[in-house]
Parts: sequence; structure tokens; C-alpha cells
Amino acid sequence: MKELRHSCGLFGVYGHRRAARLTYLGLYSLQHRGQESAGIATSDGKQFHAIRSPGLVKGCFNDSNLARLRGRLAIGHNRYSTTGSAVPANIQPLIVDLKGMPLAVGHNGNLVNAVDLREEMQATGSIFQSSTDSEIFAHLMARSQCRSLMGMIEYAAERVRGAYCLLVMTDEAVIALRDANGFHPLCMGRKGNAVVFSSETCGLDVVDATYEREIEPGEMVIASQGEITSRSFAQSRRLSHCVFELIYFSRPDSVVFGVSVDAVRKAFGRRLAREKPADGDIVISVPDSSNAAALGYSLESGIPLELGLIRNHYVGRTFIYPTAELRHNRVRIKFNPVRELLRGKKVIVVDDSIVRGTTSKKLMQMLRGAGVKEIHIRISSPPIRYPCFYGIDTPTRDELIAANCCLEEIKRFLGVDSLGYLSVEGMLEATGKNPDSFCVACFTGDYPITFRTEPSKLALEKLKH
Ligand code: SF4
Repeated sequence: MKELRHSCGLFGVYGHRRAARLTYLGLYSLQHRGQESAGIATSDGKQFHAIRSPGLVKGCFNDSNLARLRGRLAIGHNRYSTTGSAVPANIQPLIVDLKGMPLAVGHNGNLVNAVDLREEMQATGSIFQSSTDSEIFAHLMARSQCRSLMGMIEYAAERVRGAYCLLVMTDEAVIALRDANGFHPLCMGRKGNAVVFSSETCGLDVVDATYEREIEPGEMVIASQGEITSRSFAQSRRLSHCVFELIYFSRPDSVVFGVSVDAVRKAFGRRLAREKPADGDIVISVPDSSNAAALGYSLESGIPLELGLIRNHYVGRTFIYPTAELRHNRVRIKFNPVRELLRGKKVIVVDDSIVRGTTSKKLMQMLRGAGVKEIHIRISSPPIRYPCFYGIDTPTRDELIAANCCLEEIKRFLGVDSLGYLSVEGMLEATGKNPDSFCVACFTGDYPITFRTEPSKLALEKLKH
């Protein structure tokens, strides 16, 4: 649930006179994918211009600094660090000099062989500016014997293993590519003659661009010299769409992996109601990410949906907790129960996931404090038992409650009357897609791309520059 964080959001524009402003709007709508920092790089054909800053999109850009971002080409990035810490050098787009050619790179995902590659390159003389795995792409490109930019990108893509959606900008081209497993979404659309790339379709909507299609797994789309070309740089090994994009990460108004996120979340809720029915007076959601699943549960069970928890939307990552007690119980700041509605009721609480369990426990205590008679918690995803290494920041196995406790123990820990999770099979069927096209490693431990050692968020930090 709210304890998991996505790695990043990407947005790019090719061929629009207001490329920077469109990118700003796109990043704004992709803010949920990363809140640590934001950046936009533009090209006016001769020169790059860039602004990169810690904080939310609305704090990083204003009228006057956007005006400095001249050019018809732009790429932008919202970051949450899944590799490397939150230091200025790690803010993207990274800008590097590639054999005399300026290059901007924005990356969403995580490479599982980043440490091996970086050790190898550092041993032979490479000097890294940042501790992100994204910079590894640029170094690999520089080492390629190919003369063409596409050849260099293909060489880098052959060497890296893991999850990546990339936007690359030169002084006259914007290139979008997606790993062969297709872990995370990346789509393209049109706004007049301009081409727009976005992690999610909600980014296209906000700039009035028309959705065209997803970038295919293993595909590179090149917008250059007024034309769009496409080439396949890798065979699709095993489609591994991150099912968590549908459970929690993507916005419900987006279409991701060819399906409406809202519709799939409702289907998760319906399936959950069939698999794990409960005797309750009302259904409530943990807003906002569980709203659609709770609605699905309510529709399927016939038990009315009520707005029993109100979320304060102004509590961001930078919120200052004035007392130690409030810091300890952040849940109280973020959510408040509607006491008059909940008092004396048997309540079915639908949430999207349980990670460590500590946030859920506090929420359940709050509901008890509001006079709820019985709590039946229903989770619209299976138990998370394994960490993610493909671009979602999850705790270690030791911290994942479902990796260490049985259902009864979790129920007792949360202090609820009953607990039920959606099954893996039920979740996959409810997507309406081929079940084999998804990554479900955080539930099953079946990692679609294996690794020598478990990648860790700060592993690259420990390597000397
Ligand atoms: S392990 Fe889980 S969170 Fe990570 S890519 Fe796979 S489904 Fe998504």
C-alpha cells in the first residue's frame, strides 16, 4: 500500500514549440510515480537547457525557469530513488557528453546487474558522476564500437539486465525504449505533429495528446528529422508486466498494458468478494488507491460502499511532524475516520496491499477507536512475501509481514476480526489478460530475471567513484 514507492515517471516531447511546458504538465500528472526530485532537459537544436531540482514538480518549476528551457525537444523525469540515494547528482535527466555529443537520459526501472557492470567499468577507467544505475547506460554507450547512436544504445541494452524504460534526447532526436520483458509502462501519443511519450496515458490526457500505442517490449522508437521510426533491439524473452502497476502504482484514469487501471481494480474487488466474502454492514476503502477495488467488492457483494475514511491530501513526503507522537503515528495525520458513520458497525475494509503491516495496524486501531464493532479486512492483492528488484522500492524480506507470519498471526497483529487476501490466480484472471504476461515475483518469488546477488538500493553508493 502506501509503504511501497515507485521508481520514476517519464515524459518526453518531440517537435513542439512549447515542449518544456508540455513536459511540466506531463510530469505534474505523473507526480505519483516519484516525489523526491524532478527535472526537464530541452534541446533547441544547438544547445541543451536543463533544470533539475529536489522536491515536487510544482516546487521545481515556475514561469520564469520554464521560459529558459528553450527548444522543441524535451524529456522530463520524476524520481523516487530505488537505486542510489536522494542526492543532487542523482537527479534526472542525467546529462552526459557522449563522444562529443550531448545526451540527456531519463530512466524508470532497476538494473539487476548494475553493480557488476559498474565494477567492471570502474576497473577499466570509467568515472561515474552519480550513484544511479541509469548512468550505466551512458557509460556502456560510450564504450560501444558502433558509430551510430542506435547501435550504441543497442549495445548498452544488450549488456544490461533488468527493468528499464528509457527516454534519450540528443540535440535533434528523442528516443524511447522499453526492456524486452516490458516490466513498466511507456506509451506514445500525438499532439498535432508533435510526438509525446509518457509513462502513463494520464500524462497524454493532460496535454491533450491522442494516445497512439505502447512502446513494445524490446522496441526502440526514434523521433528524429520530422519522422518516427521503430526498431526492435531485443527479442521478448518473457513478458513480465508489473502487476503492481495495476494494483497500486498507476493512476486509475490511465490505460496500462492495454487495460483500464480503474476497470481492473474493480475486477480485483469483485473477485475478492467472491473469494473472501465477509459479513459486514458496510464496505469502506483505504483512500485513494483502494477506492476502485472497494467499489468492486461492494458491487459484487451487495454491501453498500461508504466513505468511512477521509484522507488529507496535503500530507506529502516533506510534511513536518511537530511532535514525536505524531511522527510515530503518521496515519492519524493522513486519515481520519467518519465516526458517526462507523460507530457500532461491522465494517469490511478493502485495502490494496499490506507491506510491513505497521501502517495497517495503526489504521485498524483508529477504526476501533471510532467505535467500529467488527473489522474484516480484505486485501485486493496476494500476500507480499518477496522484495522487488525491478524498480519498486520494497523493504527486505525480514520486514515483509507476510514473509514471516501466517495468516492467523497477521490477523492478530492487525487486531482485526478476519483477514482475507486475493489469490494469485484470482488476481491474474481478473486482469482479463494472459496470466503468463505478468511479473508476480513479489508474491511468488518467481523472478523473471535472475541475479547473482540481491540488488540493494545503496549498493552503487558503496562503490568508489
Ligand atoms: S516483483 Fe512485484 S512490484 Fe516488482 S516488478 Fe514484479 S510485480 Fe512489480
